[in-house]
Amino acid sequence: MYGVKKIMLSDSTSPNLILLKLKNKINFATMKILTVIGARPQFIKAAAVSRAIAATNNLEEIIVHTGQHFDENMSKVFFDELNIPIPTYNLDINSVGHGAMTGRMLEKIEELLLKEKPDLLMVYGDTNSTLAGALAAAKLHIPVAHVEAGLRSFNMQMPEEVNRILTDRISNLLFCPTTDAINNLEKEGFSNFDCMIIKTGDVMYDAARYYQPRATQPTDEIPEKFILTTIHRAENTDQSERLKAIFDALQEIAKDIPVVLPLHPRTRNILAKSGLDKSLKNIFFIPPVGYLQMIWLLQNCEMVMTDSGGLQKEAYFFEKPCITLRDQTEWTELTRAGVNHLGGADKEMIIKAFKHFKGSKTVFPKELYGDGKASEKITKSIVDYLKSI
Ligand code: UDP
Repeated sequence: MYGVKKIMLSDSTSPNLILLKLKNKINFATMKILTVIGARPQFIKAAAVSRAIAATNNLEEIIVHTGQHFDENMSKVFFDELNIPIPTYNLDINSVGHGAMTGRMLEKIEELLLKEKPDLLMVYGDTNSTLAGALAAAKLHIPVAHVEAGLRSFNMQMPEEVNRILTDRISNLLFCPTTDAINNLEKEGFSNFDCMIIKTGDVMYDAARYYQPRATQPTDEIPEKFILTTIHRAENTDQSERLKAIFDALQEIAKDIPVVLPLHPRTRNILAKSGLDKSLKNIFFIPPVGYLQMIWLLQNCEMVMTDSGGLQKEAYFFEKPCITLRDQTEWTELTRAGVNHLGGADKEMIIKAFKHFKGSKTVFPKELYGDGKASEKITKSIVDYLKSI
């Protein structure tokens, strides 16, 4: 890895000079990380970690954007606003099924790994881009670092659950945001595998803290009091009865407090086909917003209702109660603390949770997701690991 083989030694080279040359080579060798990202939450996580990489001596990062998310407001806005380094490669792979998407990414990422010869590949979270990146690297014996390792919903119907379990298993460095994530890996026997499990805290907390001062209001038309909602998980959008039950609940709640809903492209397409959105009152649909606008919405809302993974944590960062529109959550510390209730896609349960949070003061425990320095811990662990192998 340190390119020691590249030092040409003549027969007359003195042993001291050899040692010095080797030492210099080791001290100054640049270690190359190839990062694969492709979806909105990964851009936000990478914004925090890429900044830490850029601030570390002898670390170079090459970013590959798979193209999984490609709309201007699902991708470009994050690179522009958050100063994420421009990807060196954009694979432009999107709008196809899971198999084709993962397969095409795998093939292209393998080509790039052979060309770029990185010392390590880094992936985030649980998307097809995550799995494709990790698999391509593992097959070439390139070490894999997985940020947000150990998360489990225990629902194998979710594509994300399949992606995260497989990625964890082939990763060498498992960066876990929480103790629950570490416990999940231990229960699955990961302590017996050839990998390092490291608790770092959550890089999304780093991002939220860093960008918070730059929060901006998305439009003047946001009501003074509102509930912030996002819906995009396939388990909700692809099952019409679930989507209907969620909107029935939102409609009921919106009689009390208006709902602001930045609409994911997948949900927008499905709603347009179903006509479900036509009869809704007091629910304000807006296009997907950039992260700085999302922070403003989080700071100013009364409550969050979401099926997003990331938004559940962000609700907690900004001390807003959250109703999760899913049957389970990976962020179990939030439900245990009572700041997040599972509403599923059950109208009565969602309304009950809303009444509970509206009628009582929610107390938020401190530091469930670390101290805001997860990115630095990750970067340091990568450097230490690469020096040790
Ligand atoms: N987000 C955003 N604009 C939006 C909706 C979400 O910036 O219109 C951010 C949100 O604040 C969080 C991340 O995107 O940081 C979550 O992404 P998403 O819900 O798409 O994915 P998940 O976390 O469920 O994997």
